[in-house]
Amino acid sequence: MLEPAAPSPAVRGIRIAIDGPAASGKGTVARAVATALGYLYIDTGAMYRALGLAARRAGLRVDDAAGLSSLASGLPLDFAWDGQRARVMLGEEDVSVAIREPEIGAMASAVAVHPQVRAELVRRQQLLAARGRVVVDGRDIGTVVLPDAELKLYLDASLSERARRRHEEFQAKGERVALAEVEAEIRDRDAQDSGRATGPLQVAPGAVLLDTTGLGIDEVVQRVLRLAQRAGA
Ligand code: C5P
Repeated sequence: MLEPAAPSPAVRGIRIAIDGPAASGKGTVARAVATALGYLYIDTGAMYRALGLAARRAGLRVDDAAGLSSLASGLPLDFAWDGQRARVMLGEEDVSVAIREPEIGAMASAVAVHPQVRAELVRRQQLLAARGRVVVDGRDIGTVVLPDAELKLYLDASLSERARRRHEEFQAKGERVALAEVEAEIRDRDAQDSGRATGPLQVAPGAVLLDTTGLGIDEVVQRVLRLAQRAGA
């Protein structure tokens, strides 16, 4: 009988799944943790956002499940490294900035309710994560995409704090959006993401819950890095 090969030190590493509601700091934490560990960061929200953008450009209705699913299957979506950060590419076009618009967040959430759309994007996410040494963030990572991840986290913060953080991000980019509008958008998107039948936002079995209300980003990153080390990173 063949003995399973011992893992070589070069491939030692874990998969870290981070879920949580909108603007909970997942992306910032995931990126910092991936950089510290030398892991790949996979932003699954960017994939739904890119699909939302492509759907809007194609004039597709958000209830057109068949049209959206075929758009998802052929979507020329890629992540490219520009030497400083990951860019989200749709074919030759860098859509990293365009997908961050609040309307595209809402589009992403609307297209993400369809099971066929999710199946296609989950398939791509699992392929990207297959080699391990990854930090993947989203809504269904610990439950559907990587249910056997070595470390699962659920990041949360109060709605008002999440709205304040997202509002600050918009202001830093010179975008004028009212705080109340940002809060309403986040609340609506969370309701839709938690309420859908397929891949809803929920705490995965075995996930460590981290409430980041009142915590600084560095503190959260240090906590996650300690958990990652304990999990074998
Ligand atoms: O994480 P982010 O806020 O960029 O995600 C945008 C939207 O994409 C979410 O509101 C959600 O509807 C959808 N999404 C999802 N599953 C994921 C990641 C994001 O449904 N794994």
